[in-house]
Amino acid sequence: MHWSLAIAKDIVERRKEKEHVVATGITPSGDIHVGNLREIITGDAVCSALVDMGVEAKLIYVADTFDPLRRRYPFLPEEYEAHVGKPLSEIPDPEGCHSSYADHFLQPFLDSLDILGIKIEIFRADEMYKSGMYVDTIKEAIARKEDLLRIIREVSGRKVPAEWTPFNPLCDACGRITSAIVTGYDMGKEEAYYECECGNKGVASFKGGGKLAWRIDWAARWKILGVTVEPFGKDHAAPGGSYDTGKRISAEIYNYEAPYPIPFEHILLKRKEREGTKAKVTAMSSSRGTNIPVHEMLETIPPEILKHVISRVRPDKHIEFDPGLPLLHLIDEYEREIGGIGRGVAGKIPFRHFITLVQIARGEFQFQLPELLEVIKRSGYEVHADDAEEMEELRKKAVYVENWLRKYAPQNVKFELQSALPTEEIKKLSVEQRTALKRIAGELKEGTSLDASAWHDKIYEVASATNIEAKEVFKAIYVTLLKQPSGPRAGWLLASLDTKFLKERLEAASET
Ligand SMILES: [Zn+2]
Ligand SMILES: [Zn+2]
Repeated sequence: MHWSLAIAKDIVERRKEKEHVVATGITPSGDIHVGNLREIITGDAVCSALVDMGVEAKLIYVADTFDPLRRRYPFLPEEYEAHVGKPLSEIPDPEGCHSSYADHFLQPFLDSLDILGIKIEIFRADEMYKSGMYVDTIKEAIARKEDLLRIIREVSGRKVPAEWTPFNPLCDACGRITSAIVTGYDMGKEEAYYECECGNKGVASFKGGGKLAWRIDWAARWKILGVTVEPFGKDHAAPGGSYDTGKRISAEIYNYEAPYPIPFEHILLKRKEREGTKAKVTAMSSSRGTNIPVHEMLETIPPEILKHVISRVRPDKHIEFDPGLPLLHLIDEYEREIGGIGRGVAGKIPFRHFITLVQIARGEFQFQLPELLEVIKRSGYEVHADDAEEMEELRKKAVYVENWLRKYAPQNVKFELQSALPTEEIKKLSVEQRTALKRIAGELKEGTSLDASAWHDKIYEVASATNIEAKEVFKAIYVTLLKQPSGPRAGWLLASLDTKFLKERLEAASET
């Protein structure tokens, strides 16, 4: 049984609801990365499992756009020092292409969710506050300040400063949401009076003029949106942590049952700094630059693979994500167990084989579709150039391959079909190796072709006739074609090449 179904069954047993609301929440303070995505994939898997069981359920995402910028991250220009403490929705886009800082990081992520085919209802926290959705919960929190303090002390053991208030006003002079102290309230007018560190004294409306403190905000949100299930990073699940606090605030202040918690472990990034070094494992962090943004990953692998990478592992197990060769192994596994990638002929060609085809078809810089089609045909697949959808599927898959090769592929997967004979390297081959090449060339006739497995058998046949080991013949072939001693599966490689080209090349090599 998939873990999502086991969790869904447990939810239904523990909590009867007309409709389950599975909530996720990520702050767009930097690139939203593959590690963050686990929250959404986990929620989506459980939500789908509930729906499959015939239970009404929907998935929502609250983007914490009203969170303050905590500090100037290394990717921000120096002048952003002045924006620290302001809500993300009120800070300009550091690259100037979106309406705010928050949107700059949120929009590419929302686009990615679309590509991933995840149906999700979006809430922007700043809009929720500005529209007044939080007003009742703010009033309740202010009226019950002493109870809130008691709960926070009891659960977290934290000392709370004397001037603490559950509502943090947004200063209308300096724009920060982190530096004002509340001096009084008018519950009828629904506003707070404050004094800010910057010297300003002002009035803050409960409708967008400030924000609840984080642990209270979380509990308030559960009630406002009717959240019944929520996955969150394991840090929040620690004893005395924000979930424990939120759970009591929810029950005792808001008279609302806290959502069914699904704590999940982190996704760690495993990468080699250089070829030949040992892979290092690091936590994914946008602020430290050790992450892969979701939108970037989706340029490199198809959405179903990215989903698979995450959903195949139970939430309570961490994931070591290595976008190099291990990712390729996962793609092999996916194709074996679940299905091909892409529709039509694209779905029939294994990804690993496609990597070879694209590299053969590649011109100096980039593959060209007509060349790629020729290579695909030669390797034994039927293609229909007049079928626009089929062409688009092939093109998309080729772009994934190109990007993966450029960004993540280890050296030993890459090769370049040599346009000129690599004479120096061929001179180092043995007489027997050259004889083998000559034998192969002698059997090639224009207009005929062998498939990959026939090629494989042929190499063994020639090796035995020449009295050398097959690996010597493989090596001679790779050197002749790629100017390197190893390469992709030789059968695939040879089957994808033009017979005339191959015959001439092998003959030339045998005579060098
Ligand atoms: Zn932008
Ligand atoms: Zn101020």
